[in-house]
Amino acid sequence: MGGGVIALLTAVECVLDGHRVTVVDQGPIPHSRATSFDQHRILRALHPADPRTTAAALRAHRRWVELEELFLTRFYEQVGSLTVLPPAAATDAAAMLADAGGHARELTAAGLADRYPHLHVGGGLGAVLEDEAGVLLAERVLAACVGWLKWQRGIELIEHRAVTAVDGESGSVRLVDGQVLHSDAVLVAVGPWSRDLLPPSIAERLTLYRQSLLYCRVPRQQSQAWAATPAIPALGTEGGAWLIPPVAGTALKLTSATACRAVDAITDYATDPYWQRKLEKEFGDILPGFGPAWVTAAKDAYYSAFSPTGGPLLVALGGAGFAYAACGGTSFKFAPLIARSLADRMTGRSPSPIGLGALDGPPLDVHTPQLAGL
Ligand SMILES: Cc1cc2nc3c(=O)[nH]c(=O)nc-3n(C[C@H](O)[C@H](O)[C@H](O)COP(=O)(O)OP(=O)(O)OC[C@H]3O[C@@H](n4cnc5c(N)ncnc54)[C@H](O)[C@@H]3O)c2cc1C
Repeated sequence: MGGGVIALLTAVECVLDGHRVTVVDQGPIPHSRATSFDQHRILRALHPADPRTTAAALRAHRRWVELEELFLTRFYEQVGSLTVLPPAAATDAAAMLADAGGHARELTAAGLADRYPHLHVGGGLGAVLEDEAGVLLAERVLAACVGWLKWQRGIELIEHRAVTAVDGESGSVRLVDGQVLHSDAVLVAVGPWSRDLLPPSIAERLTLYRQSLLYCRVPRQQSQAWAATPAIPALGTEGGAWLIPPVAGTALKLTSATACRAVDAITDYATDPYWQRKLEKEFGDILPGFGPAWVTAAKDAYYSAFSPTGGPLLVALGGAGFAYAACGGTSFKFAPLIARSLADRMTGRSPSPIGLGALDGPPLDVHTPQLAGL
């Protein structure tokens, strides 16, 4: 269930294993309202002070390269990734990345200013510039999955029909028109809509977030500088600003942790002027010359997280069912590893550890009292 990156790549893995697969979405596949649907997503390997996740991200990098070959489509712009950090942390992070098998350079404050004069990074901060990283063109990834799946034997894509109920014990799924599908195994990967479909014991532990994003056109005189700019998942500001450079004809995308807030429900996708002005003000201090004239569009997006950890959540729905109940803010880059792990679980194999805590342990089980104690 769901036509986002998690369900589509899991479908790909299941098809590669020789299974028959049906993908159902409430909208078209892909759906422009899905969390996965956007111009870009960052793939960075470096997770400071977290060698396991860093190693997992390097594996994800390699699998994305393989998937480009499988789908015969280019959707991964390996422009690198720049993480701004205090100097000592940058030294440690570069060493950790090298230990994990990645390639990274440490930049001093002076080196940063020299290399990226169109960014204003204050406070004497340094950075780590990593090579096995960059920008995944998310909409293209989804289109490539669908394009590949459509040509495979034993695949059915059911669009514009929401799932209204799932029985994880029997593997049956009820659609909005009353039709019931039967399967050996089901996966619920409905992103931020999980709270509507999953049992209350799970739904009440999910937090829904709404985040505002600005899409910008850079001034012509800066276009060369921006063409040589990596993805920047952390600009080192107190607010948590980050950006994605204008690669492969996309916009420069600006956002910040300060523009992310918990909300009660998925409503509209328009950016309130309050949040737009807040982001414009924040980036006015970071990008010399930046102003509202750069902004060509703004939009809000939703994602859900498991409240106790703020990250993803895997749930066992019974003998034949799993739910990737929350994606957290970083599941796109890990989606190939997550998909492999989910495909293994659904087909009764024990998944190899992938280095992501939420996926490697036993899933939460809706039927066990373990949940009550969380
Ligand atoms: C602003 C923002 C920035 C992000 N940046 C990054 C990043 O840089 N790097 C990164 O790795 N991750 C990032 N993420 C997270 C990443 O985008 C998500 O983890 C990932 O896209 C989640 O995919 P999904 O398949 O779980 O859900 P979705 O993409 O939301 O897919 C769910 C699908 O389920 C369908 N659906 C819903 N309800 C039903 C139903 N009842 N019946 C049938 N179908 C249904 C929906 O229509 C949708 O197509 C970001 C997220 C946001 C919001």
